This record gives sequence, structure tokens and C-alpha cells, in this order.
Amino acid sequence: MIKEAIIRYLNKYSYSQLIPKAVLFDMDGVLYDSMQFHARAWHEVASGHSLQCTPADFYLFEGRTGDSTINELFQRTFHRDATPEEKKEIYKQKAALFTQYNDGQAMPGAKEVVEQVAQSGLQTLIVTGSGQKSLIEKINISYPGQFVRSKMVTGYDVKYGKPHPEPYLIGLEKAGVKNNEAIVIENAPLGVQSAIAAQIFTIAVNTGPLENKILLDAGANLLFPDMHTLAKNWALILKLCKEVTD
Ligand code: MG
Repeated sequence: MIKEAIIRYLNKYSYSQLIPKAVLFDMDGVLYDSMQFHARAWHEVASGHSLQCTPADFYLFEGRTGDSTINELFQRTFHRDATPEEKKEIYKQKAALFTQYNDGQAMPGAKEVVEQVAQSGLQTLIVTGSGQKSLIEKINISYPGQFVRSKMVTGYDVKYGKPHPEPYLIGLEKAGVKNNEAIVIENAPLGVQSAIAAQIFTIAVNTGPLENKILLDAGANLLFPDMHTLAKNWALILKLCKEVTD
């Protein structure tokens, strides 16, 4: 299954090899078990502004910038974009509630994955749509010495955000590697779309309530149910990349 996925990826883009030198980690739902708190905070604030939404919507929107999420809800409800003032106010309220709810727990199994990636000699980067300063600062506490700010792409660094390929293309640039020299680990459909649009081999980890099919339809090359299972398969993935290349 893994080998076939690598071959399909190579054929799709006419690459002759996949030589991972960097892993681009999404943050919410991959490194942190934080999506439940984002969804809860968004749903409460949006409902308070009479915006039509369900908690599940925010798992589908995951990866978008805050502005883009707010515009989507305004278009759906009022058939217009939000004003800059509305966006600022709603995002501020959402960020405050998220900070209040978030328990800062790392995603189970994610430490094993990050450690294995580092031990394999690959660079570790973060590519997130999040602009939550609190979470970015927590990285060093949860994953000491594994990530540096210069190798992070956040909501502050991008113009378009996921599902546009921009965030992952900036990630490749920061790593100094080509499309076929990286692997993305994502949990969200729009994040998968972004990484696939950047022509990067993308592993989906389904840590939320969505159907696997949604992540596979978004283009994920491989899918695992959780980070523990990815950690167990990491050495095999690298071995098969090398095997297919040889
Ligand atoms: Mg995510």
C-alpha cells in the first residue's frame, strides 16, 4: 500500500524519485490535540454573531486563515464579506475563547513521530494557518529543541493560506528543498489540498471526526488513523522511498 502510493505520486508528477529531506508538520490536529477547542470557540463566537454554522463546519474549514473563515460564514449567512472591523472583533473573541479552553495537550503519538523524523536526519518544520501566539510559544515546551521559529510558516507569513499551495511552498523554501524532497503530515482536507497543490507527498492522519474519504478525496497519498500508527510505519516509509528510488 505504501509502496504503491509512492509510485502513484512519482507517476503523477513525472518525478523519478522521492528523497525526503524535510518533514512539514501541520500544527493543530497533528502536533496538538487542539481542534476540539478551535471548533468549540469558533462555533460559540460565530453563533453569538448570528452566523449560520455547526461545530463540524470548523473541521472542514480547518487550515484557512481566520479572515477567510469569517468571510465564508458572512457569505453563507448575509451574502457579503465581513468588514475589516467585524473580522478583527470576531477573530479577537475567538482567539480569547480558544486560549481559555485549550489545554495545550500534544497529540498522542506525535512526539514519537517528531523524534523518529529527527533521528532519521530529516529537517522538521511547521506549516500552520494558525496565528495563535500562545500555541506557537508552546511548541518549545511540548517539543523541546525540535522546531525553530525560522523553520515555521504561520498565519502571519502567508497571504492566501491553505488550501492555496502558498504555505507549503514557503515551507519548502524555508527548508531549502524541492517538492519531491519533502513529506507533509496533515489532518485537514484543506491542508491536504494545499500540500498536494504544492506537489508534495502528503500523509493524512485522521485525528478528527471526518470520514477518511474526505481526506482521500482531498488528495492524500497515504492515510493513517493516528500519529502512533504513523510512528510505527515511519521507518518503513523511508525504506520504501529509498527502494522505489533505487
Ligand atoms: Mg490541522
